[in-house]
Amino acid sequence: MLDIRYELREELKERPGEDDPLSFGTIFTDHMFIMNYETGKGWHDPRVISYQPISLEPSAMVFHYGQEMFEGMKAYKTEDGRTLLFRPDMNAKRAINTNRRLCIPEIPEEDFVQAVKALVKVDEAWIPEKPGTSLYIRPFVIATDPFLGVRPSDTYMFIIILSPVGAYYKEGINPVKIWVEDDYVRAVKGGIGEAKTGGNYVASLASQVKASEEGYSQVLWLDGIERKYIEEVGSMNIFFKIDGKIITPKLNGSILPGVTRASVIDLCKHWNIPVEERQITIYDIYEAYQAGKLEEVFGTGTAAVISPVGCLRWEDHVMVINEGKIGEYSQKLYDTITGIQVGKVEDILNWTVEVK
Ligand SMILES: *Cc1c(COP(=O)(O)O)cnc(C)c1O
Repeated sequence: MLDIRYELREELKERPGEDDPLSFGTIFTDHMFIMNYETGKGWHDPRVISYQPISLEPSAMVFHYGQEMFEGMKAYKTEDGRTLLFRPDMNAKRAINTNRRLCIPEIPEEDFVQAVKALVKVDEAWIPEKPGTSLYIRPFVIATDPFLGVRPSDTYMFIIILSPVGAYYKEGINPVKIWVEDDYVRAVKGGIGEAKTGGNYVASLASQVKASEEGYSQVLWLDGIERKYIEEVGSMNIFFKIDGKIITPKLNGSILPGVTRASVIDLCKHWNIPVEERQITIYDIYEAYQAGKLEEVFGTGTAAVISPVGCLRWEDHVMVINEGKIGEYSQKLYDTITGIQVGKVEDILNWTVEVK
């Protein structure tokens, strides 16, 4: 149990109105959580304070060698006014794995969840209530030693900030266009692809920019060695429905283990829909497409939950999936998961946790 100190603001910021458009990650709430680490002392001084700039030396290690990790999750308001988190234990466990890989001291699962709950409780009034909206939660750790040598830092900050976000799909679910990247790679087995860290994102930018110039909103990554096995999309895991079966690449060390990915697999199993985690190549996908068996493609992630793919471009082939419309399974998964998140659909698998 953390002994959290509260230093709350007296004057609160003006909050966006229920009808104001909310774009992703631009507005931050009144408070933040912060806790420090020092070798020998461990994690200490957990506190909820006013959202404010932090002061770091220009030599702080995070700026030079990228020793940092992050998580992404959301809090939702139910119709009867309760505040729910979705599987926060999974984010806490993934944070532990990320930290291990990056030589960052671990944060115990209970402390991570307690910190998230404490901050969300304080800024509960910031959770928007319109359908599809939520409060995005961004926990992260940075290495703060003022030192230019290469080694794990001896000091860190664990910070959580909150940002109200609007509905991802404003005019119904819009399938995205995805570019299959066959030049750059995101990660390789043994690297940091399965850790949630900024380094994976900076590695993806050049490809993202190229795809965006061609009119594609995201990139689908192939494996770094043979350049044929499907891995994942920019910030989402990927699923295919081929001939009635749901298939997603199995976790192989270079794919980020998404909470939404795990939830989709669990739901399919619960519904007795055949679901397979296995290696699958871009050739398999193209072959299924040509045979008319590529029925649905969708990405999964906390931001959009389910993101149907309407078009996949690989080399010179443009695959239009399900006439560019959302598929039956994608819709059912979207409705069920988002329904559970806001307390509208029975939480059959016991996923939500109330913030009290
Ligand atoms: C966070 C993330 C995902 C999705 O994970 P969720 O837990 O479902 O939000 C997928 N891929 C990458 C690279 C990510 O960083």
